[in-house]
Amino acid sequence: MNQEELFKNVISHCKEYGFIFQSSEIYDGLSAVYDYGQMGAELKKNIRDFWWKSMVQMHQNIVGIDAAIFMHPTTWKASGHVDAFNDPLIDNKDSKKRYRADVLIEEHIAKINAKAEKEIEKAKARFGETFDEVLYRQTNPRVLEYLNKANDIESRFKNALENNLLDEVRQIIIDCEIVCPISGSKNWTEVRQFNLMFSTQIGSLSEDSNTIYLRPETAQGIFVNYLNVQKTGRMKIPFGIAQTGKAFRNEIVARQFIFRMREFEQMEMQFFVRPGTEMEWYNYWKNTRMKWHQAFGFGDNKHKFHDHLKLAHYANAASDIEFNFPFGFKELEGIHSRTDYDLKQHENHSGKKLQYFDSELNESYVPYVVETSIGLDRLFLAILSEAYQEETLEDGSQRVVLNIAFPLAPIKVAVLPLVNKDGLPEKAQEIVDLLKYDYNVATESKDAIGKRYRRNDAIGTPYCITVDYETLENNTVTIRNRDTMKQERIQIVQINQILRDTVDMSVLLKKC
Ligand code: ATP
Repeated sequence: MNQEELFKNVISHCKEYGFIFQSSEIYDGLSAVYDYGQMGAELKKNIRDFWWKSMVQMHQNIVGIDAAIFMHPTTWKASGHVDAFNDPLIDNKDSKKRYRADVLIEEHIAKINAKAEKEIEKAKARFGETFDEVLYRQTNPRVLEYLNKANDIESRFKNALENNLLDEVRQIIIDCEIVCPISGSKNWTEVRQFNLMFSTQIGSLSEDSNTIYLRPETAQGIFVNYLNVQKTGRMKIPFGIAQTGKAFRNEIVARQFIFRMREFEQMEMQFFVRPGTEMEWYNYWKNTRMKWHQAFGFGDNKHKFHDHLKLAHYANAASDIEFNFPFGFKELEGIHSRTDYDLKQHENHSGKKLQYFDSELNESYVPYVVETSIGLDRLFLAILSEAYQEETLEDGSQRVVLNIAFPLAPIKVAVLPLVNKDGLPEKAQEIVDLLKYDYNVATESKDAIGKRYRRNDAIGTPYCITVDYETLENNTVTIRNRDTMKQERIQIVQINQILRDTVDMSVLLKKC
């Protein structure tokens, strides 16, 4: 199965087993908006809980808040989103399709770089152990030609963006002979800036300023509450404020399923530090977050850092943790050293002081901030596309299994009566009643037992407990492990201990 097929299968699996549905599907859906079904909502909640616990519960100097989606409109003026949260868009006149001009150019640059890499790979295979890659990159004429070309386009493009030269952005697209993937033509419109914030009206503000925005990031809810939390929580620097919640962006090109949505959920943490110590904390959070991702057990090659060379105006360091999705390495989480930019901006726009008195230094200052920001939906997609496995078993039969880490599984245990009679369903219900206070448990008696195992494998249930005639005699059951498919006969009273040792969130928390 190639990556494209895998991705298609993951998407249809999500629908078939109640993980994700297209929003308003009966009306043919709403583009780039999705609903989480009965399994998806559980998985998403568990991922969110894992993040929250590893941030808040595991750090005594981090607390969590839940700020409103609507904020005073000046918030977005201060943060820069009203003036600068734009994407350059361009339309193809023949296909009538809209594109992000920056994405068209970046993809073109990536293609040229890929050609250079291919040349290098070929040479590596040809020369074997004696191959000196650094020298080859510096001297091989063809590689040099590709790399120089990519660099030239990149610097021209950066200059155009920095100086808001939209005509120049269009000219780069023309000069690079970039064609529309649908129509194949170079018949492009002008490039325009498009603000990604959704706006709406609020009744209580005066007529001329009643436009408010759906927040495009959760971070600002933390910044404006920073002093409230610091004072009421008696927080001492360094400390963090965490938050999860919905964010909204009117993305121009929404693709790749739940990777890029117009309504999505973020999990963000802003860490407030003494000015001058921010690089130390930036490195600390980079490493801590990478370790957290590795706790999922996907192996060493699935994540990588992408350090930003060009920094946003508010940052003095930034890095993404990229994940190898079925469509390649893409941003999963951002770690940014945001300086004191946001708090200073809010001081300027609100006229309120947002300083912290540092009793050790005996001075007041506006703290610096290191941010970790991850998309919950993107993480959901990463976990699901990694967990989805199509297996051929020893007897030649097929099964689909979701190898999700046990503590994240939507249902932790399915209690299955072998047959739907003779008191077995009632016995199964007794076991459900025993476990349901601590775990999400399911029971079902329809269909042959093998089919029910398969269904539970497909939604990632770690354990199936089968209740049979022997259970009625001696209170033993069989417990089947999702991954090994091995069954073991145990006492009913042992179940709780097995679950505690393997499906509790603490198992995952101890790994990161
Ligand atoms: P991208 O470059 O992919 O648009 P970004 O750099 O704009 O992302 P940030 O503003 O840093 O993203 O947001 C932090 C995190 O929020 C991202 O790492 C990503 O996981 C998530 N995120 C951002 N935009 C979306 C979206 N449209 N749909 C789903 N998740 C998103």
